[in-house]
Amino acid sequence: VLAIIAGKMRRTLGVFTNSMDTNSDLLHEGILTKARELDLDLLFFTEGMMQPVKSHILYYDLALGNIDGLIGGIFARNNILQRDDLLEFYRRFQVPIVTVNDRWNMVPSVIFDYRQGIRNTVTHFIREHGLRRILFVRGPEDQFDSEECYQAYCDTMREYGCYNPDLVSPALECLPHHYLPTKNQSKSEIVLRDYLLSFQPGRDFDAVIAVNDHWAIEAINILRSENYRVPEDVAVTGYNDSTRARISQPALTSVFLPFFEQGSASVDLLKQWFDGDLSSLCIQLPSDLLIRHSCGCWKPLAFKSSVQNDQNTGNNELFEMFQAALKSIFDQTELIELLAERLPLLGFDSFFLILYDRLEPYIYPQSLPEYSKLVMGYMRQRRFEIPEGGLKFLTHELLPDNLLNTEKPFAFIVAPLFFREQQFGYIMFETDSAAKKYYKFIYTQLNSSLWSIYLFEHQKRIEESLIHQTYELAYSNAELRKLAYVSSHDLQEPLRKIISFGDRLRQCSQGKLSPHEQQYLERIQYSAMRMHILINDLLDYYRIRAKNPPKKEINLSRICHELLEEDLEEEINRTNGKVEIWPLPVIKADPVQMRQVMFNLISNALKFHREDVKPLVIIYALSAAPGRALIAVDDNGIGINEAYYDKIFGVFERLHNQNDYDGSGIGLAICKKIIEQHGGRIFVDSKVGVGSKFMLDLPLC
Ligand code: ADP
Repeated sequence: VLAIIAGKMRRTLGVFTNSMDTNSDLLHEGILTKARELDLDLLFFTEGMMQPVKSHILYYDLALGNIDGLIGGIFARNNILQRDDLLEFYRRFQVPIVTVNDRWNMVPSVIFDYRQGIRNTVTHFIREHGLRRILFVRGPEDQFDSEECYQAYCDTMREYGCYNPDLVSPALECLPHHYLPTKNQSKSEIVLRDYLLSFQPGRDFDAVIAVNDHWAIEAINILRSENYRVPEDVAVTGYNDSTRARISQPALTSVFLPFFEQGSASVDLLKQWFDGDLSSLCIQLPSDLLIRHSCGCWKPLAFKSSVQNDQNTGNNELFEMFQAALKSIFDQTELIELLAERLPLLGFDSFFLILYDRLEPYIYPQSLPEYSKLVMGYMRQRRFEIPEGGLKFLTHELLPDNLLNTEKPFAFIVAPLFFREQQFGYIMFETDSAAKKYYKFIYTQLNSSLWSIYLFEHQKRIEESLIHQTYELAYSNAELRKLAYVSSHDLQEPLRKIISFGDRLRQCSQGKLSPHEQQYLERIQYSAMRMHILINDLLDYYRIRAKNPPKKEINLSRICHELLEEDLEEEINRTNGKVEIWPLPVIKADPVQMRQVMFNLISNALKFHREDVKPLVIIYALSAAPGRALIAVDDNGIGINEAYYDKIFGVFERLHNQNDYDGSGIGLAICKKIIEQHGGRIFVDSKVGVGSKFMLDLPLC
C-alpha cells in the first residue's frame, strides 16, 4: 500500500518514539541514515511522554493513511499504554510493523542480545576483580529486555557456582529513561534503599549489577549516603550506556547497546517486508560491556558512542536572542513571523506550524477536529505563501496537498502542541542534527506562547462581542424609539380626519339616520377619540427625556397639594373621595416629571375604588435607607391580584375593560420610566377587595 498523499511515490515509515532527546539520538540517526539510503520518507511521532494529551490517540489519527510501515516499541516505556495495548495500537494501522527493544509473537523485531552484556559483566567481576557476591537490581517482570538481563545474571552466576537468590532485588518499576531524580523519592527508590541496606554492603555483597543506568546511579547514591565507597567497598555497573552513565562520578561501567545499528536494521527489515522477502523475524544485535571506573577498573574514559558534541556554538547567541523574543509574544502573526525568520537560521530546514481549525482548543476524547490550517511553513528553506488565516485542509491528511511530495526523501518530526489537556495543533519539522539541541526549548516555549495567545484572543473576542452587543442594543432601542415616535405622529393626521369628517357627517345627517346608524357613527367617533388619547399617551411616554433629568429640590407635599387643588378636584368630587397628605420629604428630582407620577398614582387610587366605598387615599413617607426616600400612595380600592404586580407597569397593560374603568394603560408605565430614570424603583403591595399601596423608593438627591 502506498501512502495516500497525493502523487507521492516514495513509501513513508512512521516511527513512534518517546522524545527526540539525545538518549534516543543514535537510534534515530540509524533510522534516518538507512531511510535516506533506501529512499524512504520518515515521520517521527514524538513527545509520546506527554501524558495529558494522550498523544497516541492524536498520532493514530494523524498517522493513519499517511504511513506505509511503522517502527515502534520505544513508546512502550511511557507508561501510557500497557504492553498489550501497545501492540493493539500498532496493529490498527494495518501496515507492516517492526518493533525495537521488545518482542511480540510473530512481529518482526530488532533486539539486542541483552544476555551477552550481563554475562560479560558477571564474568568481568568474577575473573578480573575476584568478586563473587554480586547483587542484581532487577527491573519489571513484564518487560522483555529487563527479564533477559535477569535470566543472564542467574545463569552466569550459577555457572560460576555463586548464585544466591537473596541477592536479587524486588522487581523495580521502569522509570522513563529521561527521568531525573527529584527530592521526592519514588516508591521504587525506597524499596531499593531498604533492600540494599538490609545487608551489610562490602561484606554481604561486594558488587552490584543494575538492570539500567538509572538504578545503578541510584544504588551508588544510596551506598555513598551510608559512607560506603564505590568502587572500593562495592563495585557497581549499569546497563544501556546512557548520557548520565558517562557523566556520573565515578564514571559508570555499563553495557553498550548498538542503537545506531538497531535503527538502521529496523528500516532494513521493513524494506525487506515491502519487497516481499522478509528473511528473518528477529534480528539480534550484540551487547558489550563498556568498562569505565565504577567496576573498579581505572581505564581512561571510554566514549564508544558517537554522541554529538556541541560543534555549533556559533548559533548560541542567535538562539538566545530568539529565546528572549519568543517569550514576549502574544500575537499569532508576530509569532509566525518570528519563527519563519529565525528557525531557518538555527538549522531547522523545514518547518510547518499547523493549528486546528476551531476557536477553542481540542480536548481528548472529543474527536479530532476535521479541519486544520497550515499557518506557517517552509520546506528546505523556501517559505510558502499562505493566505491570511491559514491554508485549510483535512486534518487526517497531515499537511495540505502535495507539500510532502519532495524530490529527496524527507524525515519529519511530528509533535503535538498543547497546554495541559488542551491541544492547539502540531508542528512538523526537519532539522540538521545540531539544531536538535534547541528543539526542546523551542517546543516548550511554543506551547506556552500559543496558550497565552489563545487566552489573549479569547479575552479579546469576549470583549468585542460585548461591545458589539451593547452597540446593537443601543441601536435597536434608538430605532424603536424613533419608529414609535414617528409612527405615533403620523397616525395623528388620519385620525384627526376621521374625527372631523365624523363631526361633519353627524351635522349633515341630523335627523336622517336611523337609531342604529346613529349609534354606529357614535361608536366610530368614540373609538377615534380613544385612539387619539392612546397615541397622545404613547407620545408622552416616549417624550420622557432619557438620562439625567434636570434635578431641582422639590417639596413633594406641596406638589401633592397643588395637584389636589388644580387637577384632581373634579375627580375627588365625582368619586366623593378623600385624599390625605401626610408630611413628605424634600427630594431632588425633575419637578414636572414627579408631578406627573403623583398625578397618575393619586388618580388611579381614586379611579379604582370599590363600589359603595368612598375612596380614601393617604400619601405618606415610610422609613427608608440612608440617603433614600420611601413614599407610599395608599388606597382602599379594589386591590390588585399579586400575579399582576409586575404586569401593570407595562405599556398598555390594563386589568379591566374600558367600560368598567376608563384609561389607556400607560399611566403606570410612565411612572416606572420616570422613577427609574431618577435612580429609583416603583412597586406595589395590594390585597384584592381591601386596597393597594404603591411605593416609590427614590434617592434624596
Ligand atoms: P390605566 O389607569 O390607564 O388603566 P395604568 O397604567 O395607570 O393604566 O394602570 C394599569 C392598570 O393597573 C390599571 O388598568 C388597573 O387595572 C391597575 N391599577 C392601577 N392602579 C390601581 C389601583 N390603585 N388599584 C387597583 N388597580 C390599579
